[in-house]
Amino acid sequence: MRIVDDEGGRIAGFGTRVFDELTGGRYVTLARSDLSRLLYETSAESIEVLFGDEIVALEERADRVGVRLRRGGERHFDLVVGADGLHSQVRRLAFGPQQAFERHLGYGVAAFETDGYDRRDENTYLMYAKPGRMIGRFTLRDDRTLFVFIFTGDTDRWPGTLAEQKAKLHDLYRGARWEWPAAAGELDRANELYFDRVSQIEMDSWSRGRVALIGDAAFCVSLVAGQGSALAMISAYVLAGELARAGGSYCEAFSAYETRLRSYIARKQRGAKRFATAFAPRTSRGLWFRNQVVRAFSLPGAARLVVGRDIADRLDLPDYRWDERGEGATESREGLGIMR
Ligand SMILES: Cc1cc2nc3c(=O)[nH]c(=O)nc-3n(C[C@H](O)[C@H](O)[C@H](O)COP(=O)(O)OP(=O)(O)OC[C@H]3O[C@@H](n4cnc5c(N)ncnc54)[C@H](O)[C@@H]3O)c2cc1C
Repeated sequence: MRIVDDEGGRIAGFGTRVFDELTGGRYVTLARSDLSRLLYETSAESIEVLFGDEIVALEERADRVGVRLRRGGERHFDLVVGADGLHSQVRRLAFGPQQAFERHLGYGVAAFETDGYDRRDENTYLMYAKPGRMIGRFTLRDDRTLFVFIFTGDTDRWPGTLAEQKAKLHDLYRGARWEWPAAAGELDRANELYFDRVSQIEMDSWSRGRVALIGDAAFCVSLVAGQGSALAMISAYVLAGELARAGGSYCEAFSAYETRLRSYIARKQRGAKRFATAFAPRTSRGLWFRNQVVRAFSLPGAARLVVGRDIADRLDLPDYRWDERGEGATESREGLGIMR
């Protein structure tokens, strides 16, 4: 990670060695899309996957849940597990509107990928910041580049269309230096742009009746935590394990799932809130202070002191003995279904 100034000169930074140290050499980074692909390839033969469809209504009955799909008609399942992210539709249908659970952290985020950008710094996350505005550039495989923007902003007048979102970024970053002019040109050509609030999800319970939530849908820690994918995987693993262990008693499984993870996730959410200001400090003083802290990371032990608790943690995941159970440990009325 390298923080740069207006001309691209290095202000501060640290190498992956810091993460290696914090994780005992177990640091690995992979794209969310690769993780998705791997999960899909591993499970596609044993479960039914419906693409391009979504749940539009849920109706809980005594012994099952009635699910209405936008295209696929009405079906019934023993349980419904919502893994549909920060803006979960399953959460909205089963628990209530997004506003009841979303806690905006005071930042917005935008990101897009581009092909053939002429500057490449392999394996380096470059970060440029002005008060309340951050631009990140990350070199990807196959000549691709990822740009990320984090900026302070309220939730009013949130731009809806792609053109409005691009215009908003132009507005926010007007006068920015470093590679903003070149990035702006790439932005104008982009056909897809991720644009969202930086928010967390806080719920009193991650299940209701026969419906449960995992990952961002249940407890989004936000991108500033930098661990949302791992936490989503952990929650899926624990929920599946507890369901298998409970042998059909889903109430028991849902409760064990929450007992195991709730305080752990709450700690992650608190850590992310603290960390949010380090991504896009709001003042020049804050920026200066953040850069000093990052500089100190190269001193032995300093990173462990500042972020060690948030990055490497001691969660003992149970061994649910999948190998002994084999396939079919959890059975459902129609088999297990995943919707993406
Ligand atoms: C810019 C950015 C950078 C990030 N960087 C990191 C990082 O470095 N490390 C990290 O660990 N995490 C990072 N995160 C967070 C991470 O991406 C999420 O925490 C993680 O993807 C959550 O996984 P999930 O499966 O719960 O939800 P998601 O990955 O959001 O997946 C939800 C899925 O549900 C689908 N879906 C949504 N609505 C519906 C619907 N109505 N019907 C059917 N399907 C639907 C979506 O298409 C999507 O495929 C970042 C996030 C952002 C935005």
